[in-house]
Amino acid sequence: MVPLWCGNLKSMPEVNKIHFNSAEFLISANKLNQCPEDSGAEVAFAGRSNAGKSSAINTLTNNSKLARTSKTPGRTQLINFFQLNQPDLRLVDLPGYGYAKVPVSMKEHWQKHLDQYLQERMSLRGVVLVMDIRHPMKEFDEMMVRWCQATQIPLHVLLTKSDKLKRGPAQATMLSIRKILKESLGDKVTIQTFSSLKRDGVELLSNQLSEWLSSETNDEFSDQNGANEQN
Ligand code: GDP
Repeated sequence: MVPLWCGNLKSMPEVNKIHFNSAEFLISANKLNQCPEDSGAEVAFAGRSNAGKSSAINTLTNNSKLARTSKTPGRTQLINFFQLNQPDLRLVDLPGYGYAKVPVSMKEHWQKHLDQYLQERMSLRGVVLVMDIRHPMKEFDEMMVRWCQATQIPLHVLLTKSDKLKRGPAQATMLSIRKILKESLGDKVTIQTFSSLKRDGVELLSNQLSEWLSSETNDEFSDQNGANEQN
């Protein structure tokens, strides 16, 4: 299925295209002070456990082993950083939520550190929120939206596992979520369907990330958004 999207991308000059298949594991951080130096630019992937976040990162980077898809709760409680082949550009895999086995104290630890990461990380250019297209906008997703609203960080929603729905229902889901998110995030939100299984939507995602990672600051990004809105 041709991926569906609602965004405001201008076409990327070839020279700015970032090669996501260059991503390599850099470091895992358990707290903000263990993160790599806060310079350059990075984009973070967030999503509930089982939403398809690891598969999406692996599909984007064309590396089936990069973000582990078989997870143990321990491993997913870390923020994982991946270096791209251009200096100071990174992908970030934020911890997934939803494991029944994770103790409340660990969830609280993560909420606190995620909050701190989203509030304080200067190099963060945008958040990709991965949601299973059949189960969108759960509690964790709403929390991420509130964080993005509070911090004014741009949000790109990936409605993944789109191969599980026909085109009509997929489009209806995308448009209804877009409508809800536009109310709180305005022009700071973009949305697309994605399938790791069929590799649908990879180019849209990489274009969005390239645009974010090429922007100097979030302020510059907002200026560009205003000037290039197509929808
Ligand atoms: P994570 O917990 O969010 O990192 O989720 P995973 O990437 O590990 O995916 C959870 C499950 O969904 C796995 O069984 C994947 O094979 C499956 N999955 C992930 N993406 C897709 C997709 O695009 N289509 C389909 N049909 N299954 C997917």
